[in-house]
Amino acid sequence: MENIALSLKTAEKAPTRAEFDRAAHWIIIAPAGHTQKLPYAELLYQRRSRVQRAAADTEPLVTELPNKIGSRVAFACIKPELSQFNLLTLARKLVTALTRDKAATISVLVSGFTHRQRERIGEALYAAVLAAAADLPSFKKKREKHAPASLHIYGVPDSPRLLRTRAEAEGNALARHLTLLPSNFLTPTEYMQQVRRLARSHGWKLKFYDMKTLRRMGAGAFTAVAQGSPVADAGIAHLRYEPRGGRANAKAVAVVGKGICYDTGGVNLKTAQFMYGMHGDMQGSAVALGILHALTQLKVRFPVDCWLALAMNHVGSRAYKPNDVVTAVNGITIEVVDTDAEGRMVLADTLALAARQKPRLILDYATLTGSCKRALGGYMSGVFTNRDFWVHRLIEVGRQSGERVWPFPMDEDYDQALDSEIADVKQCSNEPGADHINAARFLGRFVDDVPWIHMDLSAGGNKGGLAHIPTNKTGFGVRFTLNLLLDQEMV
Ligand SMILES: [Zn+2]
Repeated sequence: MENIALSLKTAEKAPTRAEFDRAAHWIIIAPAGHTQKLPYAELLYQRRSRVQRAAADTEPLVTELPNKIGSRVAFACIKPELSQFNLLTLARKLVTALTRDKAATISVLVSGFTHRQRERIGEALYAAVLAAAADLPSFKKKREKHAPASLHIYGVPDSPRLLRTRAEAEGNALARHLTLLPSNFLTPTEYMQQVRRLARSHGWKLKFYDMKTLRRMGAGAFTAVAQGSPVADAGIAHLRYEPRGGRANAKAVAVVGKGICYDTGGVNLKTAQFMYGMHGDMQGSAVALGILHALTQLKVRFPVDCWLALAMNHVGSRAYKPNDVVTAVNGITIEVVDTDAEGRMVLADTLALAARQKPRLILDYATLTGSCKRALGGYMSGVFTNRDFWVHRLIEVGRQSGERVWPFPMDEDYDQALDSEIADVKQCSNEPGADHINAARFLGRFVDDVPWIHMDLSAGGNKGGLAHIPTNKTGFGVRFTLNLLLDQEMV
């Protein structure tokens, strides 16, 4: 699981004509409408005008230049106010046009914008090239490698923002790598081996609550799900990053993730169509780990707690069943309704443990509900918060980062769906309804009054990729969260 091998060179000035003609693969971004001082400007604008379509802002021209080596160019003209999501999407298409060609070195020229605009465009392209260069699992006998190894950006000054882009990309690549591993390569045991290795190399404190410990603590919601596994290797991992020389009393940010390494549905067994792909049901935990990785690389000044709920949701004679009543670690009793709603069960205890430490904010990530996916598709993730006044800020964080989210209500009357005759709360409802909202209301019982944001990762999978990410599994959430924690003063 090595991260991204990509070297970067930046130069604020434009390349000389000789430098330009030596490079085999170019991405060029320029303003629309008027010819710039670009190499081959007339030819590029002319060819582009022939293929121009209404959606030209996000559709690049791919062409070859009449120079000695026939340099391949992916060319786009944009309005500087292009949204962050559209800019990242364009960057992915430009990069894909060249990686398809197995470009080992990609050269980028950003020309004709203000300093600030060139920085923004350069950042998006860097993010897209890093995403394409990520080392992802492949089990093919003959492995084809299309990943670019080096990137030269002209017209964009080096800036600390690019270091953050790199850290973000590494966090995202880690999340995607883990998510793509089949469940026979990523059991909770193997997941913890990776976590231990990362903890050693990053200097994170690590505590692993194994099944025995969780039973003793009374974490009955988590152990109900994990008891169906033939191997008792499930557990909750708690990692902590401490800043060097940080304030001793600084309150931590906690990130929490659902890590179901395979979700069969349990005794409420999934059908084939819905089970395929369920090795990715641990993506929330991988995103939380990716965020911790990125924040550590960036040496942030506040402590970060990361909680991973790692288990399998198996079928078997010991598996939990509908109508079982279990008690969570905070004493709340839960009536099980559908064993396929296991994510909220393992998160209930994990969130309660995270909340005990009184962090200044809890963020959790989970591929939690089909209803969120049906509501938003794979383009945005759903967000929920117990601080109403954050709702508009969350939309804004999504727009600025390019990882877009949409909030759902958290009003109390939704709780009716979870009224149980025998326990404090039902796990979920069998009636048709807003399961993603019910799930969030359910989870809200386990965070006390700690400020909390819950992300239902509907955008964790999107066919063909999303924004700058070229793969179906997106690792959605790392870039959003870094924007939220580092650019916004929400908490
Ligand atoms: Zn499930």
